[in-house]
Amino acid sequence: MRPSVLNPLFTDITVLAGVGPKFAALIGRAAGPRIVDLIMTAPINVVDRSFQPTVAEAPAGKILTLKLRVDRHDAPPKGKRLPYKVICSDETGFVTLVYFHARADYLQKTLPEGAVRLVSGRIEDYKGARQMAHPDYVADPDDENAFPLHEPVYPLTAGLTANVMRKATGAALKRAPDLPEWQDAAFLKQQSWTGWREALAALHAPRAEADIALGAPARQRLAYDELLANQLALLLIRKARVRARGRSIKGDSAKRAAVAGALPFAMTNAQRHALGEIDDDMASGERMVRLLQGDVGSGKTIVAFFAALTAVEAGAQAVIMAPTEILARQHLESLTPLAAAANVRIEVFTGRDKGAGRIAKLDAIANSEIDIVIGTHAVFQDDVAFGDLALVVIDEQHRFGVHQRISLTQKGPRPDLLVMTATPIPRTLALTAYGDMDVSQITEKPPGRRPVDTRAAPLTRLDEIVAAVKRATDKGDQAYWVCPLVEESEMLDLTAAEDRFETLKTVFGDKVGLVHGRMSAGDKDRVMEQFHNGEIAVLIATTVIEVGVNAPNATIMIIEHAERFGLAQLHQLRGRVGRGEKSSSCILLYKAPLGETAEARLKILRETEDGFLIAEEDLRLRGAGDLLGAAQSGFPRFRLADVTAHGDLLLAARDDAKMNVEKDPELKTERGEALRTLLYLFSRDDAVKLLSAG
Ligand code: ADP
Ligand code: MG
Repeated sequence: MRPSVLNPLFTDITVLAGVGPKFAALIGRAAGPRIVDLIMTAPINVVDRSFQPTVAEAPAGKILTLKLRVDRHDAPPKGKRLPYKVICSDETGFVTLVYFHARADYLQKTLPEGAVRLVSGRIEDYKGARQMAHPDYVADPDDENAFPLHEPVYPLTAGLTANVMRKATGAALKRAPDLPEWQDAAFLKQQSWTGWREALAALHAPRAEADIALGAPARQRLAYDELLANQLALLLIRKARVRARGRSIKGDSAKRAAVAGALPFAMTNAQRHALGEIDDDMASGERMVRLLQGDVGSGKTIVAFFAALTAVEAGAQAVIMAPTEILARQHLESLTPLAAAANVRIEVFTGRDKGAGRIAKLDAIANSEIDIVIGTHAVFQDDVAFGDLALVVIDEQHRFGVHQRISLTQKGPRPDLLVMTATPIPRTLALTAYGDMDVSQITEKPPGRRPVDTRAAPLTRLDEIVAAVKRATDKGDQAYWVCPLVEESEMLDLTAAEDRFETLKTVFGDKVGLVHGRMSAGDKDRVMEQFHNGEIAVLIATTVIEVGVNAPNATIMIIEHAERFGLAQLHQLRGRVGRGEKSSSCILLYKAPLGETAEARLKILRETEDGFLIAEEDLRLRGAGDLLGAAQSGFPRFRLADVTAHGDLLLAARDDAKMNVEKDPELKTERGEALRTLLYLFSRDDAVKLLSAG
């Protein structure tokens, strides 16, 4: 149970004075519904009203404070919807204070003619004159505490004002309790950090830009707390998992030998190495939870298939999960001849299995008449039961959520789990997301791959590009033509792709095809099939998913509006070409002018094909939160930590957590108890539960 000292933090924000249901909903959107959400939402800016220039020096657009004499009031004539103006000045110039819908009596009281006033707000230049619309504060210069000189600025949402958010956060902070110190005393001292509560207070009381920086000491301390909670939780989960005994799955290599004989190539050293690690895991009595990372085209599928063969050799079953129907069918197509060579029964199971056919397949899976199932999301359905499932392989892991992973591993008696991803993940990020898994990497590509000639060109050169593609397809080459899909407006994008389809038809005739997410699975497959067997030379696709297929003859990748894609996505797309013997090219068509980040992205892409390097750059350019896009689950979103800026802290937190789990596995010591509180503070109740259960 959560320690009661934390209860005030896990209370609804509506208990705060001034936060009724309406504001609670808005604050909930900007920060979260509980007090703890408010106190962990760091200011993104600071207003410095101690800046007090003269009227002449005051920069437009910046919040500042002016010391002004009130010269005269200029009230609008009755019935006119004009603003109320108060003309003020200092010895360097005039400023007009402008009020819309003003209450004259109120203004006359706060700004009496002839008086001197401190006026704080944003100054603007309007038709050659200086003005300030609706000052934030007007005060008597003798009243020292009339308004705060420094104010934190929080992320807002439509309808929520900075003031409401600031007041609510201030009230929330007052409820922050004193908590036992969970950090190591020596480390704390070495970093010259304060305790949690002081750090929190400092975080919310910035006085200058430096105080809201990620490197500010208070922010660092709190970021470390968050990272420590993350790492500790992952290690505890991992420990509990390993403790949960698995089964020892060993094969006699007979089926593998048969398949190896049918393979047109030999595995690379990197593939062999990864497979060795998987074999060891499967053979051990502990449960495998392993992530296989390898760039697009690095040959993960065959590694997964060999792992599945071990399960079959041991008399059990395996399932290989693909993110889409098309990919599942493509796996089936490439693996069926290999399976046949070893007498292994392989089948797909997808959403398209319906009626009697579906029931027959379900029976075959339940009776172990199918050895290896290639599946899509359809396998998650409750009535899919296996005879004896020993291995679960999940391809393109980021498309499946964590609980989906778990639900699959419940379809067998403690099956081993192999998760594969083609998105190279920087080491730091991998630690925060997959700290609970072992990691294998395929760092080498199969031999004979040629580099992809990558170029960027503005959309204004479209005609030239089309002509070049035409020349290439006349010689028998094939091209992908990707149009971007922006979630918010699928219809518009579809229109863009359809328009492109129409214009390219005039050049390529019936040699151009179109696939998009709104088509039926059958229609999609038909087009893909035509591309695969060469009837179509140019394939227009609206989404990344549809392009996730193998067409070895495709040597050209055109990406329209490349500036709208993330770096990792562009890299993945490019990986679809350059798979065969022929040299390939990738054209990044962009709409000029390019923003700074977009330009940097396209530059990196032209310079390297190393997925890990690209991932590091992507992280640097986009920040961790956006790396895989909001829709893709599995990555923790930190509120105070920033994996790029706080990479060193993450590594320290990792070591710290490791040491603790080794020395004090039940978190029983004084520091251990405090660490439990930390876990609850960051809502890692799941990890603490494993402790008490153990
Ligand atoms: P990914 O890692 O992107 O899933 P795939 O498993 O689809 O990559 O492999 C890409 C292509 O490379 C496939 O056509 C596959 O048959 C081929 N391939 C895999 N391993 C090797 C190898 N060792 N030598 C040559 N070709 C290979
Ligand atoms: Mg693959």
